[in-house]
Amino acid sequence: MEMNDLQPIILPGIPTRRPLVIAGPCSAETEEQVLAAARALAAQEVKIFRAGIWKPRTKPGGFEGVGVEGLRWLQRVKAETGMYVSTEVATERHVFEALKAGVDLLWIGARTSANPFAMQELAGALRGVDIPVLVKNPVNPDLELWIGAIERLYNAGLRRLGAIHRGFSSYDRTIYRNQPQWHIPIELRRRLPQLPLCDPSHIGGKRELIAPLSQEAMDLGFDGLIVESHCTPDEAWSDKQQQGTPDVLCFMLHTLVVRETTQTTEPLAELRQQIDRLDDELLALMAKRMRSGSTRKSTVCRSCKPSVTTKSSTNAVHRPSSWVSTPNSSRHCCKPSTKSPSTNRSRSSTADPLPDRRKPLRSRGCSHAKTAGRQTGRSRIRSDYAEARKRRMKLNLITLTL
Ligand code: PEP
Ligand code: MN
Repeated sequence: MEMNDLQPIILPGIPTRRPLVIAGPCSAETEEQVLAAARALAAQEVKIFRAGIWKPRTKPGGFEGVGVEGLRWLQRVKAETGMYVSTEVATERHVFEALKAGVDLLWIGARTSANPFAMQELAGALRGVDIPVLVKNPVNPDLELWIGAIERLYNAGLRRLGAIHRGFSSYDRTIYRNQPQWHIPIELRRRLPQLPLCDPSHIGGKRELIAPLSQEAMDLGFDGLIVESHCTPDEAWSDKQQQGTPDVLCFMLHTLVVRETTQTTEPLAELRQQIDRLDDELLALMAKRMRSGSTRKSTVCRSCKPSVTTKSSTNAVHRPSSWVSTPNSSRHCCKPSTKSPSTNRSRSSTADPLPDRRKPLRSRGCSHAKTAGRQTGRSRIRSDYAEARKRRMKLNLITLTL
Protein backbone atom coordinates (compact mmCIF):
# COMPACT_ATOMS: atom_id res chain seq x y z
CA MET A 1 0.00 0.00 0.00
CA GLU A 2 1.25 3.48 -0.85
CA MET A 3 1.30 5.80 2.16
CA ASN A 4 2.48 8.88 0.30
CA ASP A 5 0.76 11.50 2.39
CA LEU A 6 2.23 10.66 5.79
CA GLN A 7 3.11 13.78 7.74
CA PRO A 8 6.19 14.27 9.87
CA ILE A 9 5.84 14.24 13.64
CA ILE A 10 5.96 17.99 14.03
CA LEU A 11 4.70 19.51 17.24
CA PRO A 12 4.46 23.31 17.52
CA GLY A 13 7.49 24.87 19.18
CA ILE A 14 9.77 21.91 18.61
CA PRO A 15 12.79 22.54 16.41
CA THR A 16 12.60 20.53 13.21
CA ARG A 17 16.34 19.88 13.11
CA ARG A 18 17.62 16.44 13.99
CA PRO A 19 17.46 14.81 16.41
CA LEU A 20 13.92 14.98 17.68
CA VAL A 21 14.34 13.87 21.30
CA ILE A 22 11.80 12.15 23.49
CA ALA A 23 13.08 11.32 26.96
CA GLY A 24 11.81 10.22 30.32
CA PRO A 25 11.62 7.21 32.59
CA CYS A 26 10.71 3.76 31.42
CA SER A 27 7.79 3.85 33.84
CA ALA A 28 5.90 6.44 35.80
CA GLU A 29 6.43 5.19 39.37
CA THR A 30 5.43 8.02 41.69
CA GLU A 31 4.34 11.59 41.20
CA GLU A 32 7.64 12.86 42.67
CA GLN A 33 9.75 10.63 40.44
CA VAL A 34 7.85 11.71 37.32
CA LEU A 35 8.08 15.41 38.15
CA ALA A 36 11.73 15.27 39.14
CA ALA A 37 12.68 13.62 35.85
CA ALA A 38 10.49 16.02 33.85
CA ARG A 39 11.92 19.13 35.54
CA ALA A 40 15.51 17.97 35.03
CA LEU A 41 14.90 17.13 31.38
CA ALA A 42 12.99 20.33 30.68
CA ALA A 43 15.90 22.30 32.14
CA GLN A 44 18.07 20.65 29.51
CA GLU A 45 15.76 21.66 26.66
CA VAL A 46 14.09 18.30 26.17
CA LYS A 47 10.65 19.06 24.81
CA ILE A 48 8.85 15.73 24.77
CA PHE A 49 8.52 13.64 27.91
CA ARG A 50 7.92 9.91 27.94
CA ALA A 51 6.72 7.66 30.77
CA GLY A 52 5.06 4.27 30.62
CA ILE A 53 1.76 4.20 32.46
CA TRP A 54 0.82 0.63 31.49
CA LYS A 55 3.82 -1.68 31.31
CA PRO A 56 3.82 -4.85 29.22
CA ARG A 57 5.90 -7.27 31.29
CA THR A 58 7.23 -10.55 30.04
CA LYS A 59 6.04 -12.38 33.14
CA PRO A 60 3.26 -11.65 35.60
CA GLY A 61 4.09 -10.42 39.04
CA GLY A 62 6.42 -7.57 38.01
CA PHE A 63 5.60 -3.89 38.11
CA GLU A 64 2.82 -3.51 35.56
CA GLY A 65 2.54 0.27 35.66
CA VAL A 66 0.63 2.66 37.87
CA GLY A 67 -2.28 2.89 35.46
CA VAL A 68 -4.72 5.76 35.08
CA GLU A 69 -3.47 7.56 38.20
CA GLY A 70 -0.17 8.28 36.41
CA LEU A 71 -1.97 10.24 33.69
CA ARG A 72 -2.65 12.94 36.23
CA TRP A 73 1.09 13.20 36.87
CA LEU A 74 1.65 13.65 33.15
CA GLN A 75 -0.89 16.47 33.18
CA ARG A 76 1.18 18.12 35.92
CA VAL A 77 4.31 17.70 33.83
CA LYS A 78 2.58 19.51 30.97
CA ALA A 79 1.28 22.29 33.16
CA GLU A 80 4.54 22.87 35.04
CA THR A 81 7.19 22.38 32.39
CA GLY A 82 5.36 23.04 29.14
CA MET A 83 6.66 19.76 27.76
CA TYR A 84 4.61 17.55 25.50
CA VAL A 85 3.85 14.21 27.11
CA SER A 86 3.74 10.74 25.62
CA THR A 87 2.90 7.24 26.76
CA GLU A 88 2.43 3.71 25.47
CA VAL A 89 -1.02 2.39 24.62
CA ALA A 90 -1.88 -1.24 24.03
CA THR A 91 -5.66 -1.46 24.33
CA GLU A 92 -8.75 0.49 23.40
CA ARG A 93 -9.16 1.51 27.02
CA HIS A 94 -5.60 2.87 27.19
CA VAL A 95 -6.32 5.01 24.12
CA PHE A 96 -9.53 6.30 25.61
CA GLU A 97 -7.89 7.21 28.95
CA ALA A 98 -4.79 8.76 27.36
CA LEU A 99 -6.85 10.94 25.01
CA LYS A 100 -9.12 12.00 27.87
CA ALA A 101 -6.04 13.06 29.86
CA GLY A 102 -4.69 15.12 26.96
CA VAL A 103 -1.60 13.01 26.20
CA ASP A 104 0.07 14.59 23.17
CA LEU A 105 1.75 11.65 21.52
CA LEU A 106 1.19 7.93 21.75
CA TRP A 107 3.49 5.04 21.05
CA ILE A 108 2.69 1.42 20.47
CA GLY A 109 5.01 -1.11 22.03
CA ALA A 110 6.90 -3.94 20.37
CA ARG A 111 4.70 -6.69 21.79
CA THR A 112 1.57 -4.91 20.58
CA SER A 113 2.79 -4.07 17.07
CA ALA A 114 3.51 -7.79 16.62
CA ASN A 115 -0.20 -8.54 17.09
CA PRO A 116 -2.52 -7.62 14.19
CA PHE A 117 -5.67 -8.05 16.33
CA ALA A 118 -4.37 -5.59 18.90
CA MET A 119 -3.30 -3.19 16.14
CA GLN A 120 -6.72 -3.36 14.54
CA GLU A 121 -8.36 -2.64 17.87
CA LEU A 122 -6.08 0.36 18.43
CA ALA A 123 -6.74 1.62 14.91
CA GLY A 124 -10.46 1.45 15.60
CA ALA A 125 -10.04 3.37 18.85
CA LEU A 126 -7.99 6.05 17.11
CA ARG A 127 -10.21 6.46 14.03
CA GLY A 128 -10.81 10.12 13.33
CA VAL A 129 -8.32 11.33 15.97
CA ASP A 130 -5.46 13.54 14.83
CA ILE A 131 -2.66 12.62 17.21
CA PRO A 132 0.92 11.60 16.42
CA VAL A 133 1.46 7.90 16.90
CA LEU A 134 4.79 6.11 16.84
CA VAL A 135 4.85 2.39 16.16
CA LYS A 136 7.71 0.38 17.62
CA ASN A 137 9.02 -2.47 15.54
CA PRO A 138 7.54 -5.86 16.42
CA VAL A 139 9.77 -7.93 18.70
CA ASN A 140 10.55 -10.27 15.80
CA PRO A 141 12.44 -8.99 12.76
CA ASP A 142 9.47 -8.84 10.43
CA LEU A 143 9.39 -5.70 8.33
CA GLU A 144 6.04 -6.53 6.74
CA LEU A 145 4.42 -6.93 10.15
CA TRP A 146 5.84 -3.55 11.18
CA ILE A 147 4.58 -1.89 8.01
CA GLY A 148 1.25 -3.70 8.40
CA ALA A 149 0.83 -2.24 11.89
CA ILE A 150 1.44 1.25 10.51
CA GLU A 151 -0.95 0.60 7.62
CA ARG A 152 -3.78 -0.29 10.00
CA LEU A 153 -3.44 3.13 11.64
CA TYR A 154 -3.16 4.80 8.25
CA ASN A 155 -6.37 3.12 7.13
CA ALA A 156 -8.06 4.55 10.20
CA GLY A 157 -7.20 8.02 8.91
CA LEU A 158 -4.08 8.78 10.95
CA ARG A 159 -1.38 10.64 9.05
CA ARG A 160 1.06 11.84 11.69
CA LEU A 161 2.65 8.44 11.96
CA GLY A 162 6.19 7.49 12.75
CA ALA A 163 8.12 4.44 13.78
CA ILE A 164 10.56 3.56 16.52
CA HIS A 165 13.43 1.17 16.01
CA ARG A 166 13.97 -0.65 19.31
CA GLY A 167 15.84 -3.70 18.04
CA PHE A 168 14.74 -7.31 17.64
CA SER A 169 14.61 -10.16 20.11
CA SER A 170 17.02 -12.98 19.62
CA TYR A 171 17.82 -16.13 21.50
CA ASP A 172 21.52 -15.47 20.93
CA ARG A 173 23.24 -13.54 23.62
CA THR A 174 25.16 -10.55 22.29
CA ILE A 175 26.12 -7.22 23.77
CA TYR A 176 22.67 -5.93 22.81
CA ARG A 177 19.43 -6.61 24.59
CA ASN A 178 17.70 -6.45 21.22
CA GLN A 179 19.63 -6.85 17.98
CA PRO A 180 19.81 -3.61 15.99
CA GLN A 181 19.63 -5.22 12.52
CA TRP A 182 19.93 -1.71 11.12
CA HIS A 183 19.12 -2.82 7.59
CA ILE A 184 15.48 -3.38 8.62
CA PRO A 185 14.70 0.22 9.67
CA ILE A 186 16.75 1.43 6.71
CA GLU A 187 14.58 -0.65 4.41
CA LEU A 188 11.53 0.75 6.21
CA ARG A 189 12.64 4.23 5.26
CA ARG A 190 13.11 3.17 1.67
CA ARG A 191 9.51 1.96 1.70
CA LEU A 192 8.03 4.82 3.74
CA PRO A 193 9.03 8.45 3.67
CA GLN A 194 10.39 8.68 7.20
CA LEU A 195 13.10 6.73 8.90
CA PRO A 196 12.12 5.75 12.40
CA LEU A 197 13.38 7.25 15.58
CA CYS A 198 15.88 5.10 17.38
CA ASP A 199 15.42 3.74 20.90
CA PRO A 200 18.99 3.12 22.07
CA SER A 201 17.82 2.17 25.58
CA HIS A 202 15.86 -0.86 24.43
CA ILE A 203 18.35 -1.86 21.74
CA GLY A 204 21.34 -1.72 24.06
CA GLY A 205 19.75 -2.66 27.35
CA LYS A 206 22.68 -0.93 29.09
CA ARG A 207 23.24 2.71 29.77
CA GLU A 208 26.79 2.62 28.42
CA LEU A 209 25.44 1.69 24.99
CA ILE A 210 23.08 4.66 24.78
CA ALA A 211 25.73 7.05 23.46
CA PRO A 212 27.32 4.81 20.80
CA LEU A 213 23.95 3.60 19.56
CA SER A 214 22.62 7.16 19.40
CA GLN A 215 25.65 8.22 17.38
CA GLU A 216 25.21 5.26 15.08
CA ALA A 217 21.57 6.22 14.60
CA MET A 218 22.57 9.77 13.71
CA ASP A 219 25.20 8.52 11.27
CA LEU A 220 22.57 6.36 9.62
CA GLY A 221 20.27 9.34 9.20
CA PHE A 222 17.68 8.62 11.88
CA ASP A 223 15.49 11.61 12.65
CA GLY A 224 15.40 11.27 16.39
CA LEU A 225 15.84 9.37 19.61
CA ILE A 226 13.56 8.11 22.31
CA VAL A 227 15.68 7.51 25.38
CA GLU A 228 14.90 6.34 28.88
CA SER A 229 16.01 8.67 31.64
CA HIS A 230 15.51 8.51 35.40
CA CYS A 231 16.95 10.69 38.19
CA THR A 232 18.04 7.62 40.17
CA PRO A 233 18.24 4.89 37.53
CA ASP A 234 19.53 2.21 39.87
CA GLU A 235 16.32 2.51 41.82
CA ALA A 236 14.02 2.39 38.81
CA TRP A 237 11.12 -0.03 38.99
CA SER A 238 11.66 -1.25 35.43
CA ASP A 239 14.56 -1.29 32.95
CA LYS A 240 17.03 0.16 35.44
CA GLN A 241 20.16 -0.84 33.49
CA GLN A 242 19.20 1.08 30.38
CA GLN A 243 18.25 4.44 31.86
CA GLY A 244 20.65 7.35 32.24
CA THR A 245 20.28 10.38 34.46
CA PRO A 246 18.97 13.52 32.76
CA ASP A 247 22.41 15.13 33.14
CA VAL A 248 24.28 12.30 31.50
CA LEU A 249 21.67 12.04 28.79
CA CYS A 250 21.94 15.72 27.97
CA PHE A 251 25.73 15.59 27.99
CA MET A 252 25.51 12.74 25.52
CA LEU A 253 23.09 14.70 23.32
CA HIS A 254 25.57 17.57 23.19
CA THR A 255 28.39 15.28 22.12
CA LEU A 256 26.44 13.76 19.25
CA VAL A 257 27.80 14.61 15.85
CA VAL A 258 24.90 15.24 13.54
CA ARG A 259 25.79 15.70 9.90
CA GLU A 260 22.93 17.45 8.22
CA THR A 261 24.00 17.05 4.66
CA THR A 262 25.34 14.20 2.69
CA GLN A 263 28.37 15.40 0.84
CA THR A 264 29.59 13.28 -1.95
CA THR A 265 31.56 13.93 -5.05
CA GLU A 266 30.71 10.60 -6.61
CA PRO A 267 27.74 10.25 -8.93
CA LEU A 268 25.06 7.73 -8.10
CA ALA A 269 26.39 5.14 -10.56
CA GLU A 270 29.80 5.22 -8.90
CA LEU A 271 28.22 4.79 -5.47
CA ARG A 272 26.25 1.81 -6.74
CA GLN A 273 29.46 0.28 -8.05
CA GLN A 274 31.02 0.80 -4.64
CA ILE A 275 28.07 -1.02 -3.10
CA ASP A 276 28.53 -3.91 -5.54
CA ARG A 277 32.21 -4.10 -4.65
CA LEU A 278 31.33 -4.11 -0.97
CA ASP A 279 28.82 -6.88 -1.59
CA ASP A 280 31.59 -8.95 -3.20
CA GLU A 281 33.86 -8.15 -0.27
CA LEU A 282 31.13 -9.19 2.17
CA LEU A 283 30.55 -12.46 0.36
CA ALA A 284 34.26 -13.22 0.31
CA LEU A 285 34.54 -12.45 4.03
CA MET A 286 31.50 -14.57 4.75
CA ALA A 287 33.04 -17.50 2.83
CA LYS A 288 36.32 -17.00 4.68
CA ARG A 289 34.51 -16.91 7.96
CA MET A 290 32.63 -20.11 7.18
CA ARG A 291 35.84 -21.84 6.17
CA SER A 292 37.46 -20.67 9.36
CA GLY A 293 34.52 -22.01 11.37
CA SER A 294 34.20 -25.27 9.49
CA THR A 295 37.68 -26.48 10.45
CA ARG A 296 36.72 -26.60 14.11
CA LYS A 297 35.78 -30.25 14.05
CA SER A 298 38.52 -31.33 11.72
CA THR A 299 41.32 -33.34 13.28
CA VAL A 300 44.03 -32.35 10.88
CA CYS A 301 44.57 -29.33 8.72
CA ARG A 302 43.48 -29.49 5.14
CA SER A 303 46.98 -29.65 3.77
CA CYS A 304 47.39 -32.92 5.62
CA LYS A 305 44.23 -34.49 4.29
CA PRO A 306 44.40 -36.54 1.17
CA SER A 307 43.08 -34.47 -1.64
CA VAL A 308 41.36 -37.48 -3.19
CA THR A 309 39.46 -39.85 -0.96
CA THR A 310 39.06 -43.43 -1.94
CA LYS A 311 37.16 -46.17 -0.16
CA SER A 312 40.24 -47.36 1.61
CA SER A 313 41.59 -43.95 2.44
CA THR A 314 38.45 -42.16 3.65
CA ASN A 315 39.71 -41.82 7.20
CA ALA A 316 43.34 -41.77 6.37
CA VAL A 317 45.51 -38.91 7.48
CA HIS A 318 48.30 -37.83 5.24
CA ARG A 319 51.36 -36.73 7.14
CA PRO A 320 54.36 -36.10 4.98
CA SER A 321 57.33 -37.80 6.55
CA SER A 322 59.49 -34.72 6.73
CA TRP A 323 56.95 -32.96 8.94
CA VAL A 324 57.02 -33.37 12.68
CA SER A 325 54.02 -35.38 13.82
CA THR A 326 54.73 -37.23 17.01
CA PRO A 327 51.45 -37.90 18.91
CA ASN A 328 52.49 -36.10 22.08
CA SER A 329 54.25 -33.32 20.39
CA SER A 330 52.89 -29.84 20.93
CA ARG A 331 54.27 -28.93 17.54
CA HIS A 332 52.12 -28.65 14.52
CA CYS A 333 51.69 -31.88 12.62
CA CYS A 334 52.16 -29.96 9.42
CA LYS A 335 55.09 -27.89 10.48
CA PRO A 336 57.93 -28.40 8.08
CA SER A 337 61.02 -29.70 9.81
CA THR A 338 63.34 -26.85 10.62
CA LYS A 339 66.25 -29.21 10.40
CA SER A 340 66.09 -29.79 6.72
CA PRO A 341 64.59 -26.90 4.83
CA SER A 342 65.98 -28.17 1.61
CA THR A 343 64.13 -31.46 2.04
CA ASN A 344 60.97 -29.51 2.65
CA ARG A 345 61.50 -27.57 -0.48
CA SER A 346 62.05 -30.70 -2.45
CA ARG A 347 58.94 -32.29 -0.94
CA SER A 348 57.03 -29.20 -1.83
CA SER A 349 57.82 -29.59 -5.41
CA THR A 350 57.14 -33.30 -5.54
CA ALA A 351 54.86 -34.96 -2.97
CA ASP A 352 52.74 -32.06 -1.78
CA PRO A 353 50.11 -31.25 -4.38
CA LEU A 354 49.53 -27.73 -3.05
CA PRO A 355 52.81 -26.75 -1.44
CA ASP A 356 52.23 -23.08 -0.76
CA ARG A 357 48.94 -23.75 0.97
CA ARG A 358 50.96 -24.75 4.01
CA LYS A 359 52.00 -21.24 4.81
CA PRO A 360 48.87 -19.42 5.88
CA LEU A 361 47.70 -22.31 8.04
CA ARG A 362 46.49 -20.14 10.85
CA SER A 363 44.56 -17.75 8.68
CA ARG A 364 42.96 -20.76 7.02
CA GLY A 365 41.71 -21.86 10.41
CA CYS A 366 43.86 -24.97 10.66
CA SER A 367 42.64 -26.96 13.62
CA HIS A 368 46.20 -27.53 14.74
CA ALA A 369 47.10 -23.89 14.87
CA LYS A 370 47.25 -22.47 18.35
CA THR A 371 43.76 -21.66 19.63
CA ALA A 372 44.60 -18.07 20.47
CA GLY A 373 45.91 -17.49 16.99
CA ARG A 374 42.84 -19.01 15.41
CA GLN A 375 40.52 -16.86 17.49
CA THR A 376 42.43 -13.75 16.56
CA GLY A 377 42.06 -14.65 12.89
CA ARG A 378 38.37 -15.30 13.30
CA SER A 379 37.61 -12.19 15.23
CA ARG A 380 39.53 -10.23 12.63
CA ILE A 381 37.33 -11.69 9.92
CA ARG A 382 34.31 -10.88 12.03
CA SER A 383 35.34 -7.29 12.54
CA ASP A 384 36.31 -6.89 8.86
CA TYR A 385 32.88 -8.20 8.02
CA ALA A 386 31.12 -5.87 10.45
CA GLU A 387 33.15 -2.96 9.12
CA ALA A 388 32.32 -3.78 5.50
CA ARG A 389 28.62 -4.12 6.38
CA LYS A 390 28.67 -0.75 8.07
CA ARG A 391 30.32 0.87 5.07
CA ARG A 392 27.76 -0.77 2.83
CA MET A 393 24.86 0.48 4.90
CA LYS A 394 26.22 4.00 4.89
CA LEU A 395 26.66 3.94 1.14
CA ASN A 396 23.19 2.58 0.76
CA LEU A 397 21.86 5.42 2.84
CA ILE A 398 23.76 7.98 0.82
CA THR A 399 22.28 6.62 -2.39
CA LEU A 400 18.84 6.79 -0.80
CA THR A 401 19.27 10.43 0.11
CA LEU A 402 20.63 11.47 -3.29
C1 PEP B 1 9.17 0.91 26.72
O1 PEP B 1 9.31 1.78 25.87
O2 PEP B 1 9.33 1.11 27.92
C2 PEP B 1 8.84 -0.46 26.27
C3 PEP B 1 8.19 -1.33 27.03
O3 PEP B 1 9.31 -0.69 25.06
P1 PEP B 1 9.28 -1.96 24.06
O4 PEP B 1 7.87 -2.07 23.61
O5 PEP B 1 10.22 -1.51 23.01
O6 PEP B 1 9.78 -3.16 24.81
MN1 MN C 1 11.50 0.38 29.15
